[in-house]
Amino acid sequence: MTRTADVVIVGGGVTGVSIAFHLAGAGVRRVVVLERRFLASGGTGRSVGIVRQLYPTTETSAMVRRSLSVFQDFANVVGGDAGYVACGALIGVAPAMRSKLEANLAMQRGLGIRAEILEPADVARVEPAIDPAGLGAVLWEPESGYGDPTGVTLAYADAARRRGVVIEQGVEVTALDVDGDRVRGVRTASGDRIDAPVAVNAAGLWSPAIARLAGVTLPIIVGRHPVFTIERGPALPAHRVYLDLAGGSYVRPETGHLTLTGSLTDDETEHPMDPELLGAEAGFEEAAAVLERTGRAVPSLADARYRRGYAGAFDITPDWMPVLDQTGPAGLFTAAGMSGHGFKLAPSVGEMMAALITGATPPVSAAPFRLDRFAAIEAGGTFVASYLR
Ligand SMILES: Cc1cc2nc3c(=O)[nH]c(=O)nc-3n(C[C@H](O)[C@H](O)[C@H](O)COP(=O)(O)OP(=O)(O)OC[C@H]3O[C@@H](n4cnc5c(N)ncnc54)[C@H](O)[C@@H]3O)c2cc1C
Repeated sequence: MTRTADVVIVGGGVTGVSIAFHLAGAGVRRVVVLERRFLASGGTGRSVGIVRQLYPTTETSAMVRRSLSVFQDFANVVGGDAGYVACGALIGVAPAMRSKLEANLAMQRGLGIRAEILEPADVARVEPAIDPAGLGAVLWEPESGYGDPTGVTLAYADAARRRGVVIEQGVEVTALDVDGDRVRGVRTASGDRIDAPVAVNAAGLWSPAIARLAGVTLPIIVGRHPVFTIERGPALPAHRVYLDLAGGSYVRPETGHLTLTGSLTDDETEHPMDPELLGAEAGFEEAAAVLERTGRAVPSLADARYRRGYAGAFDITPDWMPVLDQTGPAGLFTAAGMSGHGFKLAPSVGEMMAALITGATPPVSAAPFRLDRFAAIEAGGTFVASYLR
């Protein structure tokens, strides 16, 4: 069967459905999202969903600021529930990073981001559970927190459908039709063809494979990032999001007296992962190293009961920032390489991609997200440097 569309989006994670929602909002009439499994079955469904605002560039800071305002008013802006919990986030840095943090904060305040630097000795005023030993400063972001990545995806999908977008699940894209230097559409595993002048690669961990269908090489590594669930019990009834850049771990509260924790040690690119292993059980030994760091950062969690761990993964570019650009043949757009930031950036990424596709001026400059920046950038960026440089 052959159909036609104005835009075909490959991937029904939070990125793909946000793009669809914004495209339909911009007046693009025939938008189709194709998802090979089910909505949010990729990285989105495994995400920890933290929304922090500390980013080192004006563009990414502005994007996360815009996204936050969407999460804060999600029912009105999108519809449905983002599950956003504004518990506040703290980010601890080593003494050597303090001056960078101060400079970064000055830049971010100019963009309207609310944050303040706390002396380590004052952290207890905001979060008594944190052990400030060894920290040089702690950034306090009162509006930050976490949301529900699957819920946000389903809400964007519903809102996109209300705007006329067609979303098909269980449909795998197996080929991109390219004629000369132009995309002409996509083909699916069942042999169907959708002719369209624009195709969007929003396939997350699978985006390099989709790009290869058009002969495009994306500089994206899929790197393992396991997540562990611990039972904090009544000893620590609730806590804020805490990202300990100095000690190398993070914690984020979960319902049912649980806490999600993981590593902030920049080792994802050293552990390339087959995306098909997403969600596989993580080993207890792997957990033990992370839990030890977590217990140092938040001593009341040192004795928390280990529940389980699973393998997550990030689609990582050399500078740990996404590719948001037209790439390869005309009409082939890429929104991938989210490098662990894709949940919090999703509202802004959708807005930016819709502007790029329709030829409008994006609200935030897309220049830093162009694919050709990698001609001048060597690998060697890190996750931690995506907070502060
Ligand atoms: C463990 C973990 C923790 C994270 N924590 C945070 C966090 O705290 N804060 C934050 O902001 N971000 C976080 N992230 C990152 C963020 O969740 C991701 O960047 C984001 O969810 C990616 O969304 P996506 O739509 O780009 O990709 P995905 O969710 O991976 O969606 C891509 C979709 O494409 C589909 N697909 C693939 N191939 C095809 C094909 N051939 N045809 C059709 N469909 C196809 C897949 O099935 C998948 O559903 C985390 C990620 C992980 C894994």
